[in-house]
Order: sequence, then C-alpha cells, then structure tokens
Amino acid sequence: MIERVFDVSGLVLVTIIAVIAFLIPVIVGAIHKESGILRGVEAAILAVLGGLIARGFISILLGAANDSAGAGLAIGWGFFLVPGLVDTFAGRVLTTPENLLTFATIVGGFTGGMGGIYQIYKWAGLGLLAFPLDVTWALAGNTVGCLLHVVNIGWGDHGSETRENAHRYASGFGLRYNPRYAFTQGCVMSNLTEGPGADLYRHEKTHVWQSRAFGPMYTLTYAAWMLVWLIPAVVAGIIVEGAIGLVKGPNNWCYFCNPWETWAYAVQGVARTDIDGVSEDDKKMIWPAKFVIAWSVPFFALATVLAVLAVVSVWGASTPPRSKPNTPGRRPHAQLSPGVLLPDGGPHEVISLRQQGAEHASLVGNVLIPAYDPSFRESLSISVNARSSQVSSNEFLVSTAETHSSVSARRI
Ligand SMILES: [Zn+2]
Repeated sequence: MIERVFDVSGLVLVTIIAVIAFLIPVIVGAIHKESGILRGVEAAILAVLGGLIARGFISILLGAANDSAGAGLAIGWGFFLVPGLVDTFAGRVLTTPENLLTFATIVGGFTGGMGGIYQIYKWAGLGLLAFPLDVTWALAGNTVGCLLHVVNIGWGDHGSETRENAHRYASGFGLRYNPRYAFTQGCVMSNLTEGPGADLYRHEKTHVWQSRAFGPMYTLTYAAWMLVWLIPAVVAGIIVEGAIGLVKGPNNWCYFCNPWETWAYAVQGVARTDIDGVSEDDKKMIWPAKFVIAWSVPFFALATVLAVLAVVSVWGASTPPRSKPNTPGRRPHAQLSPGVLLPDGGPHEVISLRQQGAEHASLVGNVLIPAYDPSFRESLSISVNARSSQVSSNEFLVSTAETHSSVSARRI
C-alpha cells in the first residue's frame, strides 16, 4: 500500500512536475530581470510533497478496500470527478489503482507546484492546513482547479498578492462576463478582479474553504443540487419569466438558491436579489435564506445517508486481503492440526504456538488468527505446505488478539 507510493513511475512523474515547477519561475524571473529561485525552490518542494501526499492518500484509501472496483469508482467520483463519471458508464477504465494513482500524482504535484510558483500558502498561518487539504481531501475541487490553471495560461492575469492561501486570476475562465461572475474551483479563483479584502473576494474565498472543509461532499452536493433542481427550475422559470426562464430559472434555483452559494453570499454581505443582472422576475424566484435552509435539511440528510451507505459498502465489507497472483509462496496451503504434522512430500514451514489458550485458529488469506479460549492449553502445530522454498516463516502474521502466546518457527 505504501510501497507503491514510491514506485519508479510515480517518482519519475513527480520529478518531472517538480523540475518544470522549478524552471518556470526561474526562467520567467530571468526574463523580468529578477530572481525566481526562491519561488522555484518552493514550487519544486511543494510539487514533490503534493504529488507524494496525494499518492499516499489515494493508495491508502484504495488499499483499505483491497483495491476493489467499488473503491476505485468511489474515489474516482469523490476525488477526481471525471474518472468516476466516465467509469459509471464505461466500466473500469479510468478508475484502476494505477490510473487513480497517476491522477493523484498529477493533481497533487501540479497543485503543489502552482502553489509554490505563486507563493499562495501562508506557512506562518493557515497554509499549513490549506496545503495538505488541497492535495488530499479537496482533490476533487483542485482537479478542476488544475484545469482552470491550464485554461487561464496566457490570459488569466494571476494576481500579484501572495500568502493568501488561494490563487486569484483577475480575468480568465468564467461562466459569465457581462455582468462578470467569478468562478472558483478548489483553491483557484478565476475571473475575479477584486483583490483581498473586497466583498466578492471573500465570497470566492468562502468557496475555497468550503471545498477544503467538506471535500467531496462540497463538490458533489453542489453539483447534485443543480441536477436535482434543473427540471423544476426550467418549468418554474418558463412559467414566471417566459422563454428566457429556460436559462434564468436554473440560474435562480440551481445557482442563487444553492445552499453553498447562499452561505457565500452571506459572507459577502450582499443580498442575492441585489446582484447585477437579477431582474424583478428573478427576485420572485430567488428564495429567502430560511427557505434555502429548510430545503437544505432533507437534501443534506439524504446526501449524508447516501455517502455513508457508499462508504460502508466500499470500505465496511470484511473482504480478505488481496493475494498477489502467480506468487505461490504468498498462497500457502495451510492445515491446522494440534500436534500433528501432515506429510505432503514438499518442504514445510512449521509454526508452533505455545500459549495459554487457543481454541482454534483460522486462516484468512495468509493471516493467521488464533482465537482465545483459556480452557484449551495444548500446543498447536501448524503445518503449512509451502511449495515455494522462498517462503519464510515471517510471511505469516500471527495475530494473538487478547492472548499471550509465544510463537516459534523452525524449518524442517
Ligand atoms: Zn459563489
């Protein structure tokens, strides 16, 4: 689970991202006749850390479910969106462990590298929380955030402020330009002319921290709210506003009445009905905050139940550890019999358990679990037919839960 975090392909990818992240500020700095070394060093370090932390995070989540297909799909949805969406229809194409680890490396490394290049993280403050969250729990938002970076290259006009724990592009990708609507994904705020301290900046920054705090639940419930209300909003929009309601209806109910937006507008300190572009008809459709909260209760209750069901079904099942195929020594044929060695003609491993109480032992995969029973005081000899001479006794993990057993192994 941990070894694969540091496998060669992963390290190569992380190194490539780190080298590029180092060179870009150095070269750009040289063009502007200023040193970009410090930015480059920070970018390279964060690219390596981001890539490896994200790999570790995803590897542990996968491993905890024995790399099952269900875990792949859940992780694909929860932390990268697109692979989950694609594989819901296409089968296990993008959500294999190898592909998910590659996505994690790219998103984690790229997020770290960009964070270092623009020096967004405030290390003597919340940056210590923001960075690790960005490359783990908030990977879904930052996957799209990375795409925003790519789209904004050349025309995004990145803000010059540093250590604000978020990127800001004064222009760049946005969903509306007249009036201008900022667009935030992960730690990347785009199409936002207002700098730190401005009301709209605080609104967008709220989304950055919503993403960090709620991770997949933020990203998925934001999208789910839009999906759930789309058809009713189109119908209501046409009834209230006529043909233009086809677009305005969803803008009012899916966007302005979205609980995450209602929250962000509250932080901004501006009524949602007072925003540029909101007509008198729109005001009839935009609910007061108390209505949004009332709808939020059943919505988030259902979302939480579904999330818990998904997590329990993927990670709660007691599936056996995955055996590596084509490695005979990892799949021993084991037989238990008190005091008896069964001849089988092959080389043996004998594990002798001398303990105060072991009623029976069960072998689950290659994990041996003796159960405790004080009434049983015999020694157990376990003959394991290990057809590969490479097998050594320490490949068997003997769990002595709540017992005090002495375990000795010898080769015969
Ligand atoms: Zn917003």
